[in-house]
Amino acid sequence: MSIEDYETVIGLEVHAELSTKTKIFCKCPTKFGAEPNTQVCPICMAMPGTLPVLNEKVVEYAVKAGISTNCEIERDSKNDRKNYFYPDLPKAYQISQYDKPLCKGGFIEINVNGENKKIGITRIHIEEDAGKLNHNEFGQGSLVDLNRAGVPLIEIVSEPDMRSSEEVDAYLKKLKSILEYIEVSDCKMQEGSYRADVNVSVRKKGDTEFGTRTEMKNMNSFRSIVRAIEYERARQVEVIENGGKVEQETLRWDDVSGKTFSMRDKEDAQDYRYFPDPDLVAIRLSDEYIENIRKNLPEMPESRKDRYINKLGLSEKDANFLTSSKAYSDMFEKAGEICKNYKAVCNWLNSDIARILNEKEQEPDQIPFSAENLAELVKLIDDGVISSSIGKKVLDELFANPRSPKQIIEEKGWVQISDENAIKEVVLKVIKENEESVLDYKAGKDRVLGFLVGQAMKETKGKANPKMLNEMFIEELKK
Ligand code: ADP
Ligand code: MG
Ligand code: ZN
Repeated sequence: MSIEDYETVIGLEVHAELSTKTKIFCKCPTKFGAEPNTQVCPICMAMPGTLPVLNEKVVEYAVKAGISTNCEIERDSKNDRKNYFYPDLPKAYQISQYDKPLCKGGFIEINVNGENKKIGITRIHIEEDAGKLNHNEFGQGSLVDLNRAGVPLIEIVSEPDMRSSEEVDAYLKKLKSILEYIEVSDCKMQEGSYRADVNVSVRKKGDTEFGTRTEMKNMNSFRSIVRAIEYERARQVEVIENGGKVEQETLRWDDVSGKTFSMRDKEDAQDYRYFPDPDLVAIRLSDEYIENIRKNLPEMPESRKDRYINKLGLSEKDANFLTSSKAYSDMFEKAGEICKNYKAVCNWLNSDIARILNEKEQEPDQIPFSAENLAELVKLIDDGVISSSIGKKVLDELFANPRSPKQIIEEKGWVQISDENAIKEVVLKVIKENEESVLDYKAGKDRVLGFLVGQAMKETKGKANPKMLNEMFIEELKK
């Protein structure tokens, strides 16, 4: 049997850092990138005798996430201690939620190759993040940075409903976009604020039982997740095809070698000795509280999509693309509002901008220039100040060193040539240098016109006004 005879089964545990101003059980700020151990206090450093106090915003954000993913919001819930030892965890337990999570039983809808599919959400619970070990920077040993200790997280556990790396990619992107829209997490994968544990198993097509799963921890790039799933499913199929058995174990994905390595197996599976945290009171939510959050949720991607199609006249494909990421959608709305050419803004985003981001292996929220910059670029082209091919060069400049497009074209001398005499001069030169093509044109080969215009563009380094060029050629060639 071959790999095509197997089905891949995937379930995800996604961790998203919440963008509350302060940590989950103390008043320390959560800002990313500060000097090590400058955002800490006795509580998040786990000094004896300190007591945690739950940050109400964390509950609110988790409830928002739950409602937006179609979950039931539990009226009664609590915090539990998950005990384990690791140097980045100063209390030697993590405060999490075990048997009474805040949200249960939801789903989100994904679209892969034109088909819609619901992916079940088992639960969403709140917990605290651990600190961070800095391994190599200091030569010998590791140093602990507790700035991240106590940063609030939600963990979103999916049902094992995904069947391919494409579905996983779509699920992760959809979930990320939902969390961004409701503004509970900035989901910056590169900063580790959106990461996933990926559980993979395979089974023969038609089997009803799931196979044994392996789990790859803490993955924080879409590309590595897709690669890791492809690798892991092939590895598991090979084990089975060779008469072996897949071991349940925790794996580490190595992006450089493109392989998974064993971290720990089932034998040393941890017993976390969960128990309710005696320092925290139980969480009880009123219907009114939940209703109030539901009423005040911001506009979701689906509704933005409808607006783009019905009010702005975009195609469904374009609307899907734009709303796939809040960064794209926000930039689209802001730039479109300024330059009034929504279609052009959309085209820039879904062709050149998306391509450049892809080449750089970056995400839409890493676009370095502003919506104002993009709007100005569109306007410069619409007003005939620059051609669209110069526009592409301006875009490259915007990525390399963001500044006003007007300033860029002035610095570079890229203003379009729309002076009639200047255009005529180029046209005559090109006609003179391409006698044979001119004869072809006169003999009825209309296509040659495009070639001649191209030559004139080359001559002017893309700066000639293409419409004027065309007209001038037709006029001169008649003579
Ligand atoms: P744990 O906390 O031990 O990792 P859970 O039972 O909560 O365990 O499962 C975690 C994740 O593993 C869930 O997202 C679930 O969908 C997924 N999962 C469970 N069984 C399988 C399987 N056989 N194949 C793939 N994924 C699975
Ligand atoms: Mg797990
Ligand atoms: Zn603190």
